[in-house]
Amino acid sequence: MKTQAQLIAKFGDPYKNRLTFERMWMMVWEVPDDIREAIPAIPKRIYLNRIILIPLKTTLRKLISTGLHEEIETWDGCFNIRPKRGSSGISTHSWGIAVDLNAALNPFRGKVTWSDEFVQVWRDIGWICGADWSAASKDGMHFQWENF
Ligand SMILES: [Zn+2]
Repeated sequence: MKTQAQLIAKFGDPYKNRLTFERMWMMVWEVPDDIREAIPAIPKRIYLNRIILIPLKTTLRKLISTGLHEEIETWDGCFNIRPKRGSSGISTHSWGIAVDLNAALNPFRGKVTWSDEFVQVWRDIGWICGADWSAASKDGMHFQWENF
């Protein structure tokens, strides 16, 4: 996993230079109809870091093609400048490179309700899955992209 210093080196510090960061990296994704029809929980527009656009689209389409998309009940956000849950430091949501899904069913440090197949699709595409973290930081709702 990337360190906070590596993420700041790549994207800047969203707390200190929010506007510059958003202008350089953030975009509005108009989610295609086929994805929204299959997964009604996904919003019409997602404000995300442009580096996750292709992987997120690819992942959602892969989930749809395998029927695993039916596990998605809620969209719980992407961009949110905030500290990490349960520790010091900046959450990767602050750079718009992470998404949360089914938060109520997969609470921080709680149980993970996804099937193994569902999480494997994300892993195979290159996401870091909070479901894989140790008990102290387990975050089943959380999928993070930091391939750059
Ligand atoms: Zn998250």
